[in-house]
Amino acid sequence: MYAWLRRFAGSVLTEGAVAALAQSGSSQDCRAALCRWEDALFAQYPEGHRIMTTPEATALIEDVFAAFGRAAPQLELVPGFEDPRIGGFADVKRHRIVIENGCLYRFLVLHEAAHILVPEDRHHGPVFIYVLQTLYRAFLDVPETAVRELLTQHGLPSYTVLPEPESLAIAA
Ligand SMILES: [Zn+2]
Repeated sequence: MYAWLRRFAGSVLTEGAVAALAQSGSSQDCRAALCRWEDALFAQYPEGHRIMTTPEATALIEDVFAAFGRAAPQLELVPGFEDPRIGGFADVKRHRIVIENGCLYRFLVLHEAAHILVPEDRHHGPVFIYVLQTLYRAFLDVPETAVRELLTQHGLPSYTVLPEPESLAIAA
C-alpha cells in the first residue's frame, strides 16, 4: 500500500479529493464525529494507538511527505496545550507539526500530517477525511472496508476510492 501511495499520491490530492468533495454535500465541521471514528477504528486496529519515539515519528513524517513529493514539516514537542482535549496541532503557516509530550500516537501524527497536506479543509470535511483515510490505510495497514463501514456508521463522508492507475495512464 505504501509503494502504491508513492506512485499515486499526487492524484489522491487532486482527482481523489475532487471526487470526495463531489460525493458529499456536507460542509460542517466533522471533528467530534471524526474523533469517535478514530477511537472506534483504532480499537479494532491498535497500531494507530501505538506511541512512537521521536526519531520514529520524524521518520514517519518524512515518509508521508516523501510519498507526496513535499518537504516534510518540522516535528516539535511541547509540554501541553491550553485545551487539555488537544494533543496535537498542525501549524500550516510555519510548516510544523506540534505534539504534546507523551502523545506521539501514530494516528495523531498522521492526522496532523493530513492537515498540512490539505490546509484548505480546516474543518475536517470530505477532502480532509479522504486524505486522512488514505494515510491510515497506507501507513497503518487498516483495511478499506473497515474504514468505510466505520465512516458510514459515524455519519461521516465515506468516499474511499483510490485513483486508478489505468485512468491516470490515459490522463497522462
Ligand atoms: Zn484535526
